[in-house]
Amino acid sequence: MHLKSLTLRGFKSFASATTLDFEPGITCVVGPNGSGKSNVVDALSWVMGEQGAKSLRGGKMEDVIFAGTSGRAPLGRAEVVLTIDNTDGALPIEYAEVTISRTMFRNGGSEYEINGHKARLLDVQELLSDSGIGREMHVIVGQGQLDTILQATPEIRRGFIEEAAGVLKHRKRKEKALRKLEATETNVNRLADLVSEIR
Ligand code: ATP
Repeated sequence: MHLKSLTLRGFKSFASATTLDFEPGITCVVGPNGSGKSNVVDALSWVMGEQGAKSLRGGKMEDVIFAGTSGRAPLGRAEVVLTIDNTDGALPIEYAEVTISRTMFRNGGSEYEINGHKARLLDVQELLSDSGIGREMHVIVGQGQLDTILQATPEIRRGFIEEAAGVLKHRKRKEKALRKLEATETNVNRLADLVSEIR
């Protein structure tokens, strides 16, 4: 699995449609300060479902939409499309190429599509969760974040590793199942009380 391309349209400083093609191996984005390098990384987090405006270096989610410059009016929507090569089947979907897109309008929430079909945020998260590109986005290490990881407690560091290994999803499911079990046990006890009252 590797990221094939990323298209930004109306996202942060990328007012016009801009596509970056990634070849297998290392890709290096170079440019002067303020030219939009970090915005590319923000777009990657955003299309994969990032929900925190702060993680995208903004005050509110709307800040991802192109806000205009002296020569260009603000836009009403932001769109990012990520294409992933899935020939190795790393993503649990029957396609050799997977396209995930996220669109946001100034007056509304986000819309997601997987291979051109409308999807929910949960579908995107589930699709990516086994690949190590999880909800917490630990695969994207921002400026200054290395220190945070190095100084994290062993529990937090274990969380990073579990997410990257795809274990976190199962731990969450286990917690959910245990909660259901607990609720069922309460119901069974209540039933037993009722039965003994009727007798
Ligand atoms: P550095 O090397 O200093 O880290 P960078 O290349 O990573 O810089 P970014 O932080 O990606 O640069 O881009 C910052 C630029 O993006 C700023 O000029 C900022 O005005 C612009 N920008 C951010 N959000 C928007 C937006 N919503 N609309 C228009 N421009 C935006």
